[in-house]
Amino acid sequence: MAVLFACAVVFHGENMIEHFLSFIKRSSSVFVFTLLLVMFFNGHIKESGLIFFVLLLSIFVDVRNFRSYDKILDSNRKLQYIDELSSAMRQSIKLSEVLELVMKNLTTELGYDRVVIFSFEHRGYKKDVLAPVAGLNVSMDKLENSFFKYDKSEDIVPKCAIEKKPYIVRNAREDHRCSQSFVELLDLSEYIVIPMISKDVIVGVLLADNRKNGREILESDLPPLTMFANQGAMAIENARLYEKIEALAVTDGLTQVYNHRYFQDSLKAELNRVERYHRESSERISLMLLDIDNFKKYNDAFGHQSGDAVLTEIGLILKGLSRKVDVVARYGGEEFVIMMPATPKEGAAIFAERVRSGIEKSKFEMRDGQVQGVTVSIGVSTYSDDAKTPQALIEKADKNLYLAKTGGKNRVVSG
Ligand code: GH3
Ligand code: MG
Ligand code: MG
Repeated sequence: MAVLFACAVVFHGENMIEHFLSFIKRSSSVFVFTLLLVMFFNGHIKESGLIFFVLLLSIFVDVRNFRSYDKILDSNRKLQYIDELSSAMRQSIKLSEVLELVMKNLTTELGYDRVVIFSFEHRGYKKDVLAPVAGLNVSMDKLENSFFKYDKSEDIVPKCAIEKKPYIVRNAREDHRCSQSFVELLDLSEYIVIPMISKDVIVGVLLADNRKNGREILESDLPPLTMFANQGAMAIENARLYEKIEALAVTDGLTQVYNHRYFQDSLKAELNRVERYHRESSERISLMLLDIDNFKKYNDAFGHQSGDAVLTEIGLILKGLSRKVDVVARYGGEEFVIMMPATPKEGAAIFAERVRSGIEKSKFEMRDGQVQGVTVSIGVSTYSDDAKTPQALIEKADKNLYLAKTGGKNRVVSG
């Protein structure tokens, strides 16, 4: 009874029976208790008193042992999660998947309700800002404009990143280190921020709280959370590196727009998609082939390097003018191409004219600071009006480009 009572006091709440059974298995007090009963019923009343004290002592020792055993089990479990997480991360190189994994483990395995991961991004500032890149049980739309300058006074998130130190906030609304608009946005009260560090370099900040379950955030949460954050940081670094390498393989080195191969692959994929799923629909895909007028002359007059700078500038103009879904690529030499999904011929012709006049109005800096104008000729073609295969579509755009050249240059032909 004494053992049962002790267990009830110490391990009240969930899993009491489980705890009790595992306690019995390992406890020496059960043995002493049995001895006490035997002695008592055999009439050894005096000795029973002594044994009773031994029993109290052994219960005390058992309870202490059991508690540390429980802690070891808990740490083991956490280590196992971290091991599982890191092996999953080794297999998954996509950044979004990796972030999802980190957050899922934090909520399911460490019991946190909500998680937000901040990482460095360009947001119109010269310097990077810390912006939310992923969240679990948090609406990311809500956080769209919540980013922090890399300045300690902005919020505890940049403070944590700059100092590479974790912080537990106990009462966000009264904590001067926290940006109150951000606190309000997420209805934050108690939360923890942990720096995400990979090879001594800060990669981001992880924020977690327990708004729903109300569980207190303990100092003892820090070691496993730090391990998770650093595993996450390493995975983010790897995923970013992978993305960079992938981007390099499809990017034109000089102009930073897509390369010829990527354009061909995307055109093929886009036509396949439309042919397969929208054969009966009126979906249109347009192409725009652009060639710089008299470019040889610029090279001859100002040198190849100035010519290269013009190409780079035109790449920027094209990217700036086109939509996110358009594929802007260098077709070769001084020719560019833009694939425009879901764009009929009229729309493509209007856009091509905007590009032509945009370039005509731009000033290009040549050697010795001289400024020159550049013009371009453009040929447009449209699926399925002009052709149904990638090759035929390109040929039609090329034919129209030729007509634009022979018609006097600096013009768009889309007929
Ligand atoms: P047109 O108006 O008929 O297109 O005349 P053009 O001089 O532009 O055409 P042409 O085909 O005769 O010459 C293209 C020139 O583009 C040849 C080459 O000097 C230049 N060019 C091609 N690729 C590059 C490049 O990567 N860098 C530089 N600087 N010039 C290039
Ligand atoms: Mg050419
Ligand atoms: Mg040319």
